[in-house]
Amino acid sequence: MGKPTGFLEYNRVSAQMEEPKERIKHFREFKKYLPIEEQQKQGARCMECGVPFCQSGDVLGGMVSGCPLHNLVPETNDLVYTGNWEQAYLRLSKTHSFPEFTARVCPALCEAACTCNLNGEPVGTKENEHAIIETAFERGWVKPQVPKVRTGKKVAVIGSGPSGLAAAQQLNRRGHQVTVFERSDRIGGLLRYGIPNMKLDKAVIDRRVRLMEEEGVVFKTGADVGKDIKAAELQKEFDRIVLCCGASNPRDIKVPGRDAHHIYFAVDFLASVTRSLLDSGLKDHKFVSAKGKHVLVIGGGDTGNDCVGTALRLGAKSVTQLEMMPKAPDTRADSNPWPQWPRVCKTDYGQEEAIAVFGHDPRIYQTTVTEFIKDEKGDVQKAKTVKLESKRDEKTGRMNMVPVKGSEEVIDAQLVLIAAGFLGSQKYVTDAFKVSVDERTNVATKPEGYETGIPGIFAAGDMHRGQSLVVWAIREGRKAAEEVDASLMGYSNL
Ligand SMILES: Cc1cc2nc3c(=O)[nH]c(=O)nc-3n(C[C@H](O)[C@H](O)[C@H](O)COP(=O)(O)OP(=O)(O)OC[C@H]3O[C@@H](n4cnc5c(N)ncnc54)[C@H](O)[C@@H]3O)c2cc1C
Ligand code: SF4
Repeated sequence: MGKPTGFLEYNRVSAQMEEPKERIKHFREFKKYLPIEEQQKQGARCMECGVPFCQSGDVLGGMVSGCPLHNLVPETNDLVYTGNWEQAYLRLSKTHSFPEFTARVCPALCEAACTCNLNGEPVGTKENEHAIIETAFERGWVKPQVPKVRTGKKVAVIGSGPSGLAAAQQLNRRGHQVTVFERSDRIGGLLRYGIPNMKLDKAVIDRRVRLMEEEGVVFKTGADVGKDIKAAELQKEFDRIVLCCGASNPRDIKVPGRDAHHIYFAVDFLASVTRSLLDSGLKDHKFVSAKGKHVLVIGGGDTGNDCVGTALRLGAKSVTQLEMMPKAPDTRADSNPWPQWPRVCKTDYGQEEAIAVFGHDPRIYQTTVTEFIKDEKGDVQKAKTVKLESKRDEKTGRMNMVPVKGSEEVIDAQLVLIAAGFLGSQKYVTDAFKVSVDERTNVATKPEGYETGIPGIFAAGDMHRGQSLVVWAIREGRKAAEEVDASLMGYSNL
């Protein structure tokens, strides 16, 4: 049970970050993790408090608190403390498919729900997870798990993001023959071409994909289902189909001047940089350049932050990030108590880097763009902005963000990156399989389930849940696999 007095004896110590001005010189991961002995002490801080919200994944106050995978957090923390690294790896593997991804990119819902928050800092569960999985890889414990018996059933997984990979891994380990179809040139979905390399080194994905290939999963890249490959062909060839195509319809900013050159959706920009990085170390110059430009990022969320960090690494002259909503408080409001997810202002790595380079936070709150201004060549040069305030709509009673008269400004913008969220699944895929969608264009399934209205076709991940997190995508993939397995075998032991 960890060390009962550990949280009193040891302070929380986290990985060191490379200095912002140094790390923007490269695209490598920049966290320097603790030596393994130090990490053990961090495990000791977990007191197995008896109210482990950390592993609950429950909805509290409208947001999920605790790990959606229900990782056995107090148990793995204890095994870290006692140095039983192999047992810790085996315990973590009971609930998790890819700890190496979440240990790098998860917002750590477990830590937000940790009881130590009540009077101090939470247990460093995410970095304990990193130590467990990387120690397991280093010591050769992560081996391909080839099924002893094959069931003779064939499953197609469409999309190779974390939900598709999790579904494929589970179904293959159960003995079904799994083929993953991916329209992109490389496997990984947004792990590969959304999340930048400095947050998740792409070699980490390659390492996992190699293992899955050794386990028997077949990957087909450049395979756009619904375009190059007909849905009907797959339905004939496979016993079950799992749609894991993500929520890749970006929300646009439809204002005058939107047709100007050098206005991109965030993921197109980020993908161009990562692809060029992987193909040639950026030497092919086949990426959207930010060098010497005033960069405007529209959207104050995590994707916007990744654009800020990437634009800085490419040599942007300035970076401004617009957010429609007001700044969140720096500490929890009384109406947002523990163990709810804390609705507080987070300054992420890209913003930290912008502060180090330019001396101020790149975010401007309660502001949006009303027009893009282009030059005679059609290149965007500036953006007109307006301040927003929250006002109640007299008819509906709802609070809306509305423009403040006389607050218009013009700012420099030679590269605009739209990071305003996603609108759900893509129509050509849902049409191809004739599956219904809900009002948010997420694929509709049975309540609490994953099967669509078309027998034998399932959906998981962002395509089913809407834009979310890697940890949720993994949970969805695992849960969908369980349902697929039960539908094939009459029961499931996944
Ligand atoms: C820039 C960015 C940064 C993010 N950072 C984080 C983070 O730090 N932490 C976090 O937890 N979450 C983060 N997220 C969210 C997270 O990446 C997603 O929630 C998660 O990847 C969703 O997984 P998925 O498997 O459902 O879909 P995706 O990862 O979107 O994968 C879907 C895959 O399906 C493929 N596909 C689509 N249609 C077809 C078709 N017709 N045929 C074949 N293949 C197809 C796509 O090419 C893609 O590879 C981020 C998202 C973005 C955009
Ligand atoms: S997956 Fe995320 S929420 Fe779950 S234990 Fe790991 S870091 Fe915490």
